[in-house]
Amino acid sequence: MQSAWRKEFYRLTLLYIAAVLLGLVTKHLFPVLFALSALLWVMQFLQIRRFEKWVSAGGKGAYPKTSGIWEDIYYYIHRIKKTEKRRKKKLRKLIEQFRQSTEALPDAAVVLRANDEIEWANKAARQMLGLQQTDKGQRILNLIRFPEFIRYIRSANYSEPVILPSPTNHRITLEVRIIAYGSGLRLLLAQDVTQLKKMQTIRKDFVANVSHELRTPLTVLKGYLETLQDLDDGVSPLLTTSFRAMQDQTERMQHLVDDLLLLTRLETQQKKQVCIDVPNLLSQICKESDLFENASSRIQLNLDSAAHIFGEEQDLRSAFTNLLGNALKYSPEDSQVIVQWYQSENELILSVTDHGEGISEVDMSRVTERFYRVEAKRRKKVPGTGLGLAIVKHALMRHDADLHISSELGKGSCFSCHFPIRRICCN
Ligand code: ADP
Repeated sequence: MQSAWRKEFYRLTLLYIAAVLLGLVTKHLFPVLFALSALLWVMQFLQIRRFEKWVSAGGKGAYPKTSGIWEDIYYYIHRIKKTEKRRKKKLRKLIEQFRQSTEALPDAAVVLRANDEIEWANKAARQMLGLQQTDKGQRILNLIRFPEFIRYIRSANYSEPVILPSPTNHRITLEVRIIAYGSGLRLLLAQDVTQLKKMQTIRKDFVANVSHELRTPLTVLKGYLETLQDLDDGVSPLLTTSFRAMQDQTERMQHLVDDLLLLTRLETQQKKQVCIDVPNLLSQICKESDLFENASSRIQLNLDSAAHIFGEEQDLRSAFTNLLGNALKYSPEDSQVIVQWYQSENELILSVTDHGEGISEVDMSRVTERFYRVEAKRRKKVPGTGLGLAIVKHALMRHDADLHISSELGKGSCFSCHFPIRRICCN
């Protein structure tokens, strides 16, 4: 653009020099200069008019034939328009490709606007959620009326998915999750998890049935073993140690079966929740923990809150007993275990702190998995099933509570259960 201006400047300068010379020769300097200026003014006016007409018509097609700086201006605008057209074409192609790929997705995808209105839905969404192409602009809550779905959308808390039956086929189970993005837009994704749910049910039923079936033979075995031990006169040390080993193993197996049955119950049965006097429950648990040597002298119970919470006593008892049992098991026999019940700004917390072996960062993320036990180089073998913390996690889940673990190897651990304040039923 700079060189076009320069060319225009030289052209005008030359024209005016020529006009001055002509004016001096003819002795009519001012009329000649005036005539030139008027001519140039008219020419520029005509150019501007032609340019305005071309631009207002959208600058389509070839630009008018012209010269000088105007030719450059027309050329640059024409070039900008051409690039823009090419970019638009590319963008259109990209959008088309994106549409085709999302249409081909096996999972349902729906874009929702701020007021829950449907902006766009793919083919799977039409099949799984029963949406129509004409539903664009409709509020999704008017089309999918499951109470849990309405609650999920309205909660605006999309950290966890929600499980629903498909509105088109109730035998299909969908896992629906929402992802917020952009300014007020949300992407709803629904996945068919029927098979997964079926497998989970089969697994739960299998574990429950096996555990239940093992219970009776174990009780019989235990009974006979006790009788044999009573009959043992101690003459054969081999027999005595064999009986002891057999008793230890049957007891271990019985604990395992009991824990598995408890986990199954936590996963499948929902009991009625009532107001639980947590301080009283904790006092009872701390008194009852005589399974460990010197347990009562090792436990320091700090009841800094009198709050009672809505819950299921048996579940809470199992969770708290497991945490206390672990703290006593995995710390030296003369060390203190602190149990504290207190209230923070928006939570009620039960913490169990020990000064034991601690847990490494790698193990910390896995200790709540079923059957996960830390392979520690312990001097003494610590009995356990590896199901305790899984029970704690499930019991807490039924109380909308979370388990937090902080630990340092060699220093100790703190396991805390965080209950939402809305669970308080008496203070
Ligand atoms: P279990 O105690 O029967 O092995 P849990 O599920 O209760 O099973 O615990 C899983 C593992 O987590 C334990 O094997 C132990 O290694 C570790 N753990 C649990 N609580 C503590 C604790 N307070 N201190 C150190 N390690 C712990």
